[in-house]
Amino acid sequence: MNRYCPICQQNSESFKPFGHIARDDAMCPICGAVERHRLSWLFLEKKITPQEYKNKKMLHIAPENVLKNKFGTIFGEENYITADLTDKRVKVKMDITNIAYPHESFDCIFCSHVLEHIVDDRKAMKELHRVLKNDGWAILLVPIVSKGKTEEDFSVVTKEERMKHYGDPDHVRNYGIDYKNRLEECGWSVEVICAKDFLDAQQITLMGITKASGEIYFCTKG
Ligand SMILES: [Zn+2]
Repeated sequence: MNRYCPICQQNSESFKPFGHIARDDAMCPICGAVERHRLSWLFLEKKITPQEYKNKKMLHIAPENVLKNKFGTIFGEENYITADLTDKRVKVKMDITNIAYPHESFDCIFCSHVLEHIVDDRKAMKELHRVLKNDGWAILLVPIVSKGKTEEDFSVVTKEERMKHYGDPDHVRNYGIDYKNRLEECGWSVEVICAKDFLDAQQITLMGITKASGEIYFCTKG
C-alpha cells in the first residue's frame, strides 16, 4: 500500500507507467487517472463543494472519463455540459474557436490538454472567456513542454512532422512559460498554482503528484 488515488479513493502498491514515452508512477491501476487528473481533482474537490455548486453550470471540454463522473455528481445532469469536436459520447458537439452559446453561459469551465491541438488557440481562449460568467472561473491546462518560449511552426502539418517537433502527432505547438501571457493577452487573469501550494510533501508522494502533473492555471475574468 504505497499509493493512494484521490479520484477512485483506492490504495494500490504502485501506479503504472504511462505515456508516449512511458513515465513511471503515472497511472492509477484501478481507475486509470494519471498525474494531471489527480492534481486537478485534488484542487477542485476543495473548491467545488456540492452545497455551493449544485446549481451552477459547468462546461467540460474533451471530458476525461475519470473526472466526468465526479463533475456529473456535483453539478447534476442538467447543469453539467460535456463538449467535444469529434467525441460522440459528449452532450454537445463544439468547436471551441466558435462556441454556439451566448455570453456568460457558464459558472465554470474545465479544459485540459486541448489548446495544444488547436491552431487558432487565441480564438479558443477568447471564446472560452466570452461564454464564462463574469464571476466564474476556468481551469485551462496545457502541457508546458518548452523551457523557453512557446514553439510553433505552422509549416509543420503532417503527423510525422508533428511527432518529431512536438512529441505528439496531434499537437500543433509546444507551449512554454509564456502560456500565461498568451491567456492574459486574451483577457484572462491567471493564477498559477503548484501542488506544494496546497498539498504537503507526504500527500504529494502518496498520491503520485509529479512534474508531469503540471500546475493549475486558474483563470478568471478579473
Ligand atoms: Zn484511481
